[in-house]
Amino acid sequence: MHEPLLTDGFGRHFPYLRLSITDVCNFRCSYCLPNGYHQTGREDFLTIHEIQRLVRAFTGLGVWKFRLTGGEPTIRPDFLDIVSAVAEVPGVRKLAFTTNGYKLRDRANSYYNAGLRAVNVSIDSLDPHQFARITGHERLPEILEGIDLCLKIGFHPVKINTVLLKNLNDAELDTFIQFVADKPISLRFIELMRTGENKTYFDQHHLPGHYIVERLLAGGWCLQERSGGAGPAQEFGHPQSLGTIGLIAPYSKDFCQTCNRLRISAKGALHLCLFGEGGYSLRHLLQADDQLEKLQQQILDLLQYKKSSHFLHQGITGITPHLASIGG
Ligand code: SAM
Ligand code: SF4
Repeated sequence: MHEPLLTDGFGRHFPYLRLSITDVCNFRCSYCLPNGYHQTGREDFLTIHEIQRLVRAFTGLGVWKFRLTGGEPTIRPDFLDIVSAVAEVPGVRKLAFTTNGYKLRDRANSYYNAGLRAVNVSIDSLDPHQFARITGHERLPEILEGIDLCLKIGFHPVKINTVLLKNLNDAELDTFIQFVADKPISLRFIELMRTGENKTYFDQHHLPGHYIVERLLAGGWCLQERSGGAGPAQEFGHPQSLGTIGLIAPYSKDFCQTCNRLRISAKGALHLCLFGEGGYSLRHLLQADDQLEKLQQQILDLLQYKKSSHFLHQGITGITPHLASIGG
């Protein structure tokens, strides 16, 4: 394999792009959009053509893994067309999406047929009442059916994202462990991140990731070696479990050293860090096919502004009001 073209000033490579396609979401997760999505400004999200031009530019720079996210990406009426348009770009080797699982049970087949191969579903509690309290929706059973269907269809990997929340789901570790024991699922706990709008919530519910690590190690789980191209997650395996348990702990020391991803917002801004100071709009370079080279040069130039680390420890969250606005 050749050296990836996208390399920043600290020697980090970027084979992976997270592409937000909408800010809109139908859930009200208490740490993200507690009052639901409210329109602010025009909803002129990237068009299919703009998305395809972006993906062409990034594949030309060596990016091969793409994740569609949001907001809730599947809420876009043209979601399947977007998937097909991205999947057909030469150089796209892995096309994934992150979803709250809304309609997964009904639509997983069409997602796969359109070209999606990997899925992350967000589930913060396996207790239906607690799930409803956190997300505002009593939909846990149908989401779990959707996950089973994804496994049957052949999505790989199937991952579950669980935001670790003190006093809301931290007592469920054993239930989560049991849940993946007989399923080839990678369940990842994500440390709650502080954003512009969730300070009080963060102070009440943030739990450092080492709490999970200590309990896993005590239960005979072992840290697995990182595979090539792996991002900042630590993954733990157990001889008696088909599934794995992971941890994404942005507040841990050295988290940023393994950063391998860039983000594009739903309106076409390049975000070098989830917690950076805003994005750099690329939209003016997405209007015609013959802008490809300029677009690629712009991406290469901007990458040199990527900093070594975020500054979350100093309470600096960047200007991200919540993760729905930039694609978590
Ligand atoms: N709506 C989709 C979903 O929930 O999967 C995709 C977008 S959502 C912003 C992506 C991921 O970010 C979800 O797994 C969600 O739980 C996580 N997330 C959102 N806000 C967060 C926060 N403040 N801290 C940690 N994770 C967060
Ligand atoms: Fe919506 Fe995802 Fe945010 Fe929940 S975490 S409110 S599903 S964007």
